[in-house]
Amino acid sequence: MTTALITGANKGIGYETARQLAARGMTVLVGARDADLGRAAVEKLKTEGADAHFIQIDVSDEESIAQAVARIDAEFGSLDVLINNAAITGGLDGNGKPSSTTLAAMREVFETNVFGVVAVTNAMLPLLRRAEAARIVNVSSEVSALTYIMDPDHALWQLTGITYPASKSALNMVTGMYAKELWDTPIKVNAANPGYCATDLNGNSGFRTAEQGAEPSVHLATLPADGPTGQLWGYLWGEDEYGQLAW
Ligand code: NAP
Repeated sequence: MTTALITGANKGIGYETARQLAARGMTVLVGARDADLGRAAVEKLKTEGADAHFIQIDVSDEESIAQAVARIDAEFGSLDVLINNAAITGGLDGNGKPSSTTLAAMREVFETNVFGVVAVTNAMLPLLRRAEAARIVNVSSEVSALTYIMDPDHALWQLTGITYPASKSALNMVTGMYAKELWDTPIKVNAANPGYCATDLNGNSGFRTAEQGAEPSVHLATLPADGPTGQLWGYLWGEDEYGQLAW
């Protein structure tokens, strides 16, 4: 049995990631902070034949993370794939201007998008180490990449807000550092870029679907032994294909 925990899997890209991993024969542990939404997602996945299980996990709540670890340990004994997918944008704090952004908004977004990933990863690592060759996927974004954001000729130059983009840049660094710590183990740690997808995160304004957004996470979750570690990989803006992105 191959097990995959996806945080924030009750909807959007996380749900689609669970669906696609289940279709590949994995047992999917559907992480959700809201029990009703998580259980509803599991029931829906089961109608498609998925081996799906609800795991209550709020990535900003260490007690909830500890309980999730205890449950996975008791019921499954190890974890093959961890997809740190849950995230928030924090809205357009300060009208998207760094100079009027509040620390409260920065802290709220970093709590989920960065500190939550570190908390969940550290808590799950003993279970991941017990698997034969675990994969960790941190769901990042192209707005994390200074290479694009600071290029006046790139479409992403127009972005000015700091909360969400800075949280994803920090997540990239977190990804790289875990990859280095686990370099000599079979565990691979990569960051996924879903591309701009229509989900609740952006008022469903994206030009890609959640199904497409899940594809980079699924790819990185199922990398072979000679696959890369410590990369940002996924949708290449403007090129309509997948590949390695500049950080
Ligand atoms: P979404 O539809 O808003 O889903 C976000 C998920 O995260 C929801 O299940 C939400 O749960 C969960 N979540 C938020 N805070 C949480 C917490 N503290 N603990 C546990 N779960 C929490 O967004 P999405 O577009 O699918 O986003 C998935 C990932 O893709 C995120 O990392 C996002 O940054 C990334 N991404 C998205 C796009 C895009 O265009 N959509 C582009 C690049 C990257 P609730 O339902 O309870 O709120």
